[in-house]
Amino acid sequence: MNFLNVFCFMNLPSIEKETLEFWRKESIFKKSLERTKNGPRFVFYEGPPFANGLPGIHHLLTRAFKDVILRYKTMQGFYVERKAGWDTHGLPTEMEAEKKLNIRFKKEIEQMGIEKFIEESRRSVFTYKKEWEEFSERIGFWLDFDHAYITCDNSYIETLWWILKQIWQKGFLYQDYKVVPYCPRCGTSLSSHEVAQGYKKIKEPAITARFELVDEPETYFLAWTTTPWTLPANVALAVNPEIDYVKFSLNNHPEFPQGVYIVSEKKFNDYKNDIKNKKTPEAEFKIIDKFKGSQLIGKKYKPLYKNEAPYKVVGAGFVSVEEGTGIVHIAPAFGEDDMSVGKENNLPVLMTVDEDGKFIDGIGEWKGIFVKNADPLIIDNLRKRELLFQEEMYEHDYPFCWRCKTPLLYYAKNSWFINVSRVREQMIKNNETVNWVPPHIKKGRFGEWLNEIKDWNLSRERYWGTPLPVWECEKCKKRVCVGSVRELEEKSGQKMNNIDLHRPFVDNVVLKCECGGLMKRVPEVIDCWFDSGSMPFAQWHYPFENKDKIDNGEFFPADFIAEGMDQTRGWFYTLLAISTLLGKGAPYKNVISLGLILDANGQKMSKSRGNIIVPKEVVEKFGADCARLYFYTINKAGEAKKFDFKEVQSLYRKFFITLVNSYAFFSTYVEGGFEFKKELCSGNLLDRWIVSRLENLKHQVIKNLDKYDIVSAARFLVDFVDDLSNWYIRLSRRRFQKPETEKEKEEASQTLYYVLLNFIKLTAPFTPFVSEYLYRKLKDGEGSVHLADYPKPDKSLIDAKLEKSMAQVREIVAQALAKRSAAGIKVRQPLSVLKLKDGAWGELKNDNNRELLSLIKQEINVKNVIFDGSISENIELDVEITPELKEEGLLREIVRQIQIMRKKANLKPSDKIFIIYDGEVSATKILEKNKEFILREIRAVGIERGKKEGINQGIEIKVDGGAVWLGIKGVSQ
Ligand SMILES: [Zn+2]
Ligand SMILES: [Zn+2]
Repeated sequence: MNFLNVFCFMNLPSIEKETLEFWRKESIFKKSLERTKNGPRFVFYEGPPFANGLPGIHHLLTRAFKDVILRYKTMQGFYVERKAGWDTHGLPTEMEAEKKLNIRFKKEIEQMGIEKFIEESRRSVFTYKKEWEEFSERIGFWLDFDHAYITCDNSYIETLWWILKQIWQKGFLYQDYKVVPYCPRCGTSLSSHEVAQGYKKIKEPAITARFELVDEPETYFLAWTTTPWTLPANVALAVNPEIDYVKFSLNNHPEFPQGVYIVSEKKFNDYKNDIKNKKTPEAEFKIIDKFKGSQLIGKKYKPLYKNEAPYKVVGAGFVSVEEGTGIVHIAPAFGEDDMSVGKENNLPVLMTVDEDGKFIDGIGEWKGIFVKNADPLIIDNLRKRELLFQEEMYEHDYPFCWRCKTPLLYYAKNSWFINVSRVREQMIKNNETVNWVPPHIKKGRFGEWLNEIKDWNLSRERYWGTPLPVWECEKCKKRVCVGSVRELEEKSGQKMNNIDLHRPFVDNVVLKCECGGLMKRVPEVIDCWFDSGSMPFAQWHYPFENKDKIDNGEFFPADFIAEGMDQTRGWFYTLLAISTLLGKGAPYKNVISLGLILDANGQKMSKSRGNIIVPKEVVEKFGADCARLYFYTINKAGEAKKFDFKEVQSLYRKFFITLVNSYAFFSTYVEGGFEFKKELCSGNLLDRWIVSRLENLKHQVIKNLDKYDIVSAARFLVDFVDDLSNWYIRLSRRRFQKPETEKEKEEASQTLYYVLLNFIKLTAPFTPFVSEYLYRKLKDGEGSVHLADYPKPDKSLIDAKLEKSMAQVREIVAQALAKRSAAGIKVRQPLSVLKLKDGAWGELKNDNNRELLSLIKQEINVKNVIFDGSISENIELDVEITPELKEEGLLREIVRQIQIMRKKANLKPSDKIFIIYDGEVSATKILEKNKEFILREIRAVGIERGKKEGINQGIEIKVDGGAVWLGIKGVSQ
């Protein structure tokens, strides 16, 4: 079978490039949309990437999962419009602009001028747009880049303004002085979903400080903190009124200063146990008093840094005994809980840190030092002043800026918030309607996130973003929210023909207040996650255009979206929040949430580890189809994926080479002039079986794709190729190569063609390139598989019983071959009998199907297959080789050697040959006795004893210990 050699060199990447050329030339994507434009809509939302970085391997993953569904629905006749989208605003872009302009600090932007910064930001938005488009095309992700939505377009911003005004009118948009996560390098606060993207495990010093009681000198409260830099802003200590505390004296401790201390009872016991474990029995602990926290409230202590009014102890329910001493140092400027305790107790807010994260004047020697760098200085200072009780290293998760990696600070400032907690219940309800893949995301990762959502910190004290459309009167402080360009014109009395809705241009628009004063825009821009979360509306410039299409459900909600698991705190969340705020219900019906990609050893990919997998390399080496199918089959969609080139390669062989070879077999043996007849009529067992398998496969694939279970669907496809090639084609070979009748070959050819064509249609959404390539081969270069209808199962062709029996046949064969191999007997050596245990192979016995049993005979080369109730195992193979069996085995060996020679001589199956042999009489008698058989098997024209002259190929083999020489001659006709 020469074709095997030819197609082993099948090169998927080059097939793909050829296919891309065809798609481009014939505008197949466009045609697929035209073909379906009157069909029902299937709504898909594309999560917008930032085009100022290159696509990574995880983009290949998500795009593969998106594309398969979109192609599937298109083939089913749905109209699947798929606008590309670009995320453009916010820190990711600003970081690029800063790099280009050599800016290190926020102040430098203002010094240079906002306009210049905005210009540079706009320029860097599309740095890698071309690469993204080429990448998407190369991996077969069909997306409409010509009508992409762009979050920095005026029309997009106008929709955002409209949405913000809706939220404003509901009273859900408000400004407040709150402690927020804050990036001191970027000079802006961040939202909790941004913070959630950047947690890292770190080890840093935690200290316990001594706070001396005013009325009881030498007696101290002990308070523990992981942020020593917040101590200068301390204004109170908090205890839990319900918790037990003890006052104790401590002497002779090897590490801690002596004194009288107050801590929670639990902490006291910890200290004591610690001492026991360290075996320092000299330390003396003596309990002096024991009481509830409530008795401590109001007690006064000396502040660490000032000698002014004494500070006092307050009660707070959040204080626990889990960590620390049960006494919490309160700095309202730097902690959310601290701020609320401060508000309840009318405590002042001491702001000790500026917006760059550095100490301000008046805190002594640390002015101008970044707070995290000041920690060791503060600890030293406390130690010198004998206010330090303990210093230890503490490991915990700490948030870092998701763009610039600076440690975030919790910092009190004025920010704008959306009161998302007011719609929390509704969001949870809306989430109920969503089909999540994997399903546990609904209640788990996503549901838990929803349960704990806080108000959305919307404002960013930055430049390149959607400006917050709130104007404030300089005189009477009245505020308005502007919801459209037209409203801006009306309120300003100015025409806005060519206005850019960005800063600084929009900052120059002044409105007139009812009071006669002038209104100016507040300086903030908004979180870019609000941009992407608004795309269902903003991509259509809703409600200024396409209002009815969204209101009547044609463009909204999405039937389907797919992104990485991290988007549960990102885009999945912001989409749901905004849609819920607008009272529109869930914005999506089905979500596939994909696991992280790791390297082959399960390590996270990172530049420093040098284990980043570049998608282009994978695609150039194995082809986009192979990378896609690998992701579809590696494991469940939501699980982390260890990317292993060895597995990609094995899939390449197992699926792609096998599939292309199956086609090659067909094209080799079915000569030109073949015409496919739509009616299948073969009664052949194997034909009926493979058709039944195919129809069942259609059913399985459709059922799973409809559930968005792409992995199960893809695995069914991969399994089928094995059945097709390693069972159906292998066992049907003779009917193609040496058919006994024309009808027999015609039946096999019709069946194989039908199966190949339908299978390729089924695989088209998964492996769009190779499917297209083979489809066009089967169709003599006509059409495109992506313009074909997706196959529907013909239930009348399904024979479940036959499939079950055949599965048992394959199982029996596998077991019997294993027994042969264990006994060291080659398959070519015929054996006499295989016994099947009665009752163990019910399907087969009940079927009483001689054809099936003869398949077993043929496959494991036995004379007889019988059922037997007396055997102990499920099968029993008689491995005794009688003289007759031995002779038969030898004959087969001879036939095989001749076939090999014929192949080596490059003779076509249709070329006739003549066989010559020589050797001792005792050894060659087997040839003489079986001349007729050999002639028939090989289709040779003659066989006789002779000499080596004029032969094409020759070989010497051992027969019964004697040597036999064999040769062949090609006979031209
Ligand atoms: Zn930052
Ligand atoms: Zn006013």
